[in-house]
Amino acid sequence: MSAIPLLPQVEAFLKRSHQLFIDGGYVPSTSSQTLDVIDPATGVVISRVADASQADIDQAVASANRGFQVWSQTAPAARASVLLKLADLLERHREELAQIETCQSGKIIQISRMFEVDMAASFLRYYAGWATKISGQTITPSLPSFAGERYTAFTLREPVGVVVGIVPWNFASMIAIWKLGSALATGCSIIIKPSEFTPLTILRIAELAVEAGLPAGALNVLTGGGMVGKALIEHPGTDKVSFTGSVPTGIAVGKSAMDAKLTRATLELGGKNSAAFLRDMDLDKAVNGVIEAGFLHSGQICAAAERFFVHRSQLEAMTEKLAERLATLKIGSPLDEATQFGPLTNKQHQAKLGQFFAQARAENSTIVCGGKVIDGPGCYVEPTVIIANSINDTLLNEETFGPVATFFPYDDEEQLLQLMNNTPYGLSASLWTNDLSKALRMVPQIEAGTVWVNMHTLLDPAVPFGGVKASGVGREFGDAFIDDYTELKSVMIRY
Ligand code: NAD
Repeated sequence: MSAIPLLPQVEAFLKRSHQLFIDGGYVPSTSSQTLDVIDPATGVVISRVADASQADIDQAVASANRGFQVWSQTAPAARASVLLKLADLLERHREELAQIETCQSGKIIQISRMFEVDMAASFLRYYAGWATKISGQTITPSLPSFAGERYTAFTLREPVGVVVGIVPWNFASMIAIWKLGSALATGCSIIIKPSEFTPLTILRIAELAVEAGLPAGALNVLTGGGMVGKALIEHPGTDKVSFTGSVPTGIAVGKSAMDAKLTRATLELGGKNSAAFLRDMDLDKAVNGVIEAGFLHSGQICAAAERFFVHRSQLEAMTEKLAERLATLKIGSPLDEATQFGPLTNKQHQAKLGQFFAQARAENSTIVCGGKVIDGPGCYVEPTVIIANSINDTLLNEETFGPVATFFPYDDEEQLLQLMNNTPYGLSASLWTNDLSKALRMVPQIEAGTVWVNMHTLLDPAVPFGGVKASGVGREFGDAFIDDYTELKSVMIRY
């Protein structure tokens, strides 16, 4: 097999001189600064986007406030209809969007199609369904009645206002859709600030949103670096930030939000997620489980597992079998449909993985396979399996966000739970066993926002997702997002 040819419309889109998407269309930036977008498979600059200035930010925020006035007054059913149309348009432009995404992120084309387009469309449809179902309560207060007066009360769910959606590079379309779907379903307007590494697909999605009937200003896209995100959060004209990214940036975002004006903040951060295999697990199934948990999208998934706990008696057999399976993965161009393992998304990240490999060697960890950066213009690293020496080893504690499975043995289930919880993070975890009764007794003792049993990584719009401990604040999906995107207003009436 060889790389699929790019569609003519993708070639044309990449060649464009990209501007900012404000007020329903493109406007030139007042800044002369641009950011290169680099194809991580080849190292070639494929496009350039604007690096928004303060004047651009002011313009986008003013537009988003006008957009909010219109969109928040749009009937819920009409809001749902626009989101449903946008989902249809994503699917109609499936190949185009998937190719743009693969070119900017190095994600293998099958994952771009399935997650960045198909899953994104299903999330949008889910949020569309909520637009007509957001409701308050009626309450009877117990206040004293001196002259026969009576009381009633009700609550209203009101959209918070202008949301700033800050998106990382690992799922640039799908995560942007999570944020704009939540905001638009609840009647908020939103300004998306994509990652500086992957700013392209959301610009095309914004065009499709206008085609779907979204009014001007309800969705703006400002490309630029982290400082654009910070300025948006601190801007007096924004009301909430929904951030997805790393823990250190999340802490900075939380501080900016609180210091500036108590801006509402939802923080979906990284972690160091565990997958634990109980002794009854068949080894072949367990190896498939490790690949699902740790190697999808070259490990660049916030919920992916990076710490793998296996009973001491099975450690050697399991890691050897895993290394054999990883050796069969076809590494190559993400535009080749036969490729199973693509590049990392940028050179900085590849260099970080190189440092982690050096650290593992310095700590005398056992490198069962991989452990090397692959030379060349692309951002490839080898799929890697490591056995840590001690629970304090760096690779068992710091998020690599790469294709690195670090193993550690346990002797009994009490120790296993301690090992799993021995981390400041708590985004996700998985238990692998045929003994569901044992699994269900262990689940409440695991400190994580999501615990999977016999599966890992897969998200569903109906199931809330978010972190405990240092992995974040707030939840996306399910009905949990409504709390984050609306303010609860109480109305009391004496009659
Ligand atoms: P990052 O934290 O470096 O950047 C995320 C975004 O924040 C980018 O758009 C960046 O420009 C912006 N940013 C940087 N500094 C900022 C500041 N001071 N104020 C406001 N915005 C700022 O993350 P990344 O490297 O793009 O993504 C990888 C990380 O994201 C990993 O740690 C991963 O675990 C995490 N992640 C979490 C989830 C989740 O749902 N919990 C999902 C995907 C990724």
